[in-house]
Amino acid sequence: MGIEYIVSACLVGVKCSYDGKYKVNDRVMQLVKDGKALPICPEQLGGLSTPRKSAEIIGGSGEDVLEGKACVTTEEGVEVTSRFMKGAQESLKLAKLVNAKKAILKSRSPSCGCGKIYDGNFRGELKEGSGVTAALFMREGIEVETI
Ligand code: SF4
Repeated sequence: MGIEYIVSACLVGVKCSYDGKYKVNDRVMQLVKDGKALPICPEQLGGLSTPRKSAEIIGGSGEDVLEGKACVTTEEGVEVTSRFMKGAQESLKLAKLVNAKKAILKSRSPSCGCGKIYDGNFRGELKEGSGVTAALFMREGIEVETI
C-alpha cells in the first residue's frame, strides 16, 4: 500500500504556518509515520516565506479564486493571489505524482480550509467556502477532510 493521503504539513509539526507555529494531530502524524501520507504546505510551495503576513480571500472563496473572480491579499492589502494559485497547482502536482485520492487539510486556512474559511475582514470570523488548494483538490476529485 502506498501513499493514500496528502496532508497539511503544519498538522505534523512542520513550522510552516504564517506565524511559524504548528499543531500536531496524532492521527495525521501516524499516517505519515506509516508511510500513508505526504505532508505539504501549499503556501510555501507557492513561494511564500515563513513567517509571513497572514492572508485571507477577499470577495469570494477559493473556488472563486480558481475562476479569477476573487483574490487573496494580506491584511496590508498586498495581493498574493498568484502565490496561492501556484501553491495549489504544485500541491495538485504532488498529489497526482503519488496518486493520492484523499487529503486531510488544516481548517479555516485560505489555502487548506474546507467548507469554512476566514471571511476576508481579518477579524477571525468565518464564511462559507474553501481555501484555494482545497478547492482545486475537490475540483480534481480528491476527497478533502478538514481538521
Ligand atoms: Fe498549514 Fe496549509 Fe497554512 Fe501551510 S498553507 S501552514 S499546510 S494550513
